[in-house]
Amino acid sequence: MNKQKAIATPTKTRQILSEYGFSFKKSLGQNFLIDVNILENILQYAGVDQNAGAIEIGPGIGALTEQLAIHADRVVAFEIDQRLVPILQETLSAYENVNIINEDILKADVRKVIRENFTEGQPLKIVANLPYYITTPILMKLLMEQLPVDNITVMIQKEVADRMAASPNTKSYGSLSITVQYYTNAKVVMNVPKTVFMPQPNVDSAVLQLQLRDKPPVDVAEEAFFFDVVQATFGQRRKTLMNNLSRHFKGKLDKGQIRERLDKADIDPSRRGESLTMEEFARLANSLHDIG
Ligand code: SAM
Repeated sequence: MNKQKAIATPTKTRQILSEYGFSFKKSLGQNFLIDVNILENILQYAGVDQNAGAIEIGPGIGALTEQLAIHADRVVAFEIDQRLVPILQETLSAYENVNIINEDILKADVRKVIRENFTEGQPLKIVANLPYYITTPILMKLLMEQLPVDNITVMIQKEVADRMAASPNTKSYGSLSITVQYYTNAKVVMNVPKTVFMPQPNVDSAVLQLQLRDKPPVDVAEEAFFFDVVQATFGQRRKTLMNNLSRHFKGKLDKGQIRERLDKADIDPSRRGESLTMEEFARLANSLHDIG
């Protein structure tokens, strides 16, 4: 398409906003994208093509939705703000392959929507410029529901993207990194300047690519217990594993017993949680599991 005619330009966005007298709701994380090149990069990282089904969260006035409608087979977009529905109906009127659902993504039955809107076995991509105030709850919901999608490519706050994709022994590494990487192969693929948004957010942004795994990278005896142990070891970041674990398992295991389990997992008790790899967390959780 002619890039000048796209919704994602400063001129067109201003025009749409003034035509509808639309005022941004900060509480809904409304920062609209006004740069088509960034959108095209996002679509490439998501691997969107004419066979793909796309699911978007928060279409706003349709900047990304329009690009998805052009490049994908079909688009379903969840938008919580009712004021945007009539605007989207008009800005996207040229596309017949878009379905806007006026619903809070956190309450939506996404699996049912997938069943009703896409053909079985169709490659599905979740693509979004997420509202920053609920990035983590949205991504956790999508991952925990184990939806039949290939990947999730999202614009989010850079600091959160870095935490989700972090490696051991870095400042950003924590329980969020382990949780996200248990379900996905996570990568920060692009840093994005504030100038491509209207209005500009206060924080830096990045595009995070999450490739969903067919199966977790480690075998754990019980997932909930594994995540509990991960949380516990990061309880107080500067404390050793020994300290954090004995505090967490107080009344269930004494220090000698914890040392025994750490030995069994071949992990030095004086290490800190931030130095453990996913495999080591799995070994540790499995050796502690009998008291879980
Ligand atoms: N996709 C548009 C763009 O890139 O220009 C808008 C992105 S804006 C960062 C986030 C969008 O998410 C807004 O349109 C906002 O109304 C919507 N939103 C906020 N909370 C939501 C929720 N819980 N469920 C669905 N949409 C939500």
